[in-house]
Amino acid sequence: MASADHVYDYVVVGAGPAGCLLANRLCADPACRVLLLEAGGRDNYPWIHIPVGYLYCIGNPRTDWCFKTEAQPGLNGRSLGYPRGKVLGGCSSINGMIYMRGQASDYDRWAEQGNPGWAWEDVLPLFKASERHYAGNSDVHGADGGLSSNVIPGTSSTPSARLRHKAASIRSATSTVAAMKAVDTFRSTSVPACAGMPPKPFCDRP
Ligand SMILES: Cc1cc2nc3c(=O)[nH]c(=O)nc-3n(C[C@H](O)[C@H](O)[C@H](O)COP(=O)(O)OP(=O)(O)OC[C@H]3O[C@@H](n4cnc5c(N)ncnc54)[C@H](O)[C@@H]3O)c2cc1C
Repeated sequence: MASADHVYDYVVVGAGPAGCLLANRLCADPACRVLLLEAGGRDNYPWIHIPVGYLYCIGNPRTDWCFKTEAQPGLNGRSLGYPRGKVLGGCSSINGMIYMRGQASDYDRWAEQGNPGWAWEDVLPLFKASERHYAGNSDVHGADGGLSSNVIPGTSSTPSARLRHKAASIRSATSTVAAMKAVDTFRSTSVPACAGMPPKPFCDRP
């Protein structure tokens, strides 16, 4: 028979950004008992916390489900690795740390196709509410949420800041060479387990 210790109001499956965010919101109410289940291990693997360390996390069973695609005729029958995070923090523990939103026009098109609440003006307040942007509140950014974002060098003023973000700088330059739009806004820490939240806030809650 289940003991009272094992009775929960909510069970959240998967401790990626979405699961962490949801669990964090739910257990902000001390009366609410929340169980957050994660198939992967803890996020105390060093490469998770080093920018561009994702190169050592992808394809690594410590942090990745190590999925493979079906053999692709368009790739001469090759099968490709398809990384998905299997660790506290989910894919945000193995991702590129780029802070990037979808295209406004995509959201508007989804709304036009009969999905109320999906227009850009509907979702922008939610993005802003989740964000702690380095430049403060503005029309398009929020500064009071849990997901920190920071600017990468070039604009970082101190040598130590430039050093700290050197890897991110290389990434940005690479994307320019690859004819992708340069991105200058990164998640400012590689502490992903509670991605989207203040640092490890709910890990200590009962
Ligand atoms: C290699 C890579 C690079 C990326 N780079 C960027 C980037 O630079 N910028 C950006 O914005 N986004 C990036 N992304 C995308 C971003 O990380 C994801 O969109 C985001 O993490 C999705 O969050 P999620 O919570 O929906 O799912 P996930 O992060 O996938 O989390 C799901 C969690 O559920 C767990 N789980 C699954 N099944 C079970 C089960 N049955 N029981 C218990 N637990 C389970 C998984 O182990 C995982 O931890 C990248 C993704 C990858 C894979």
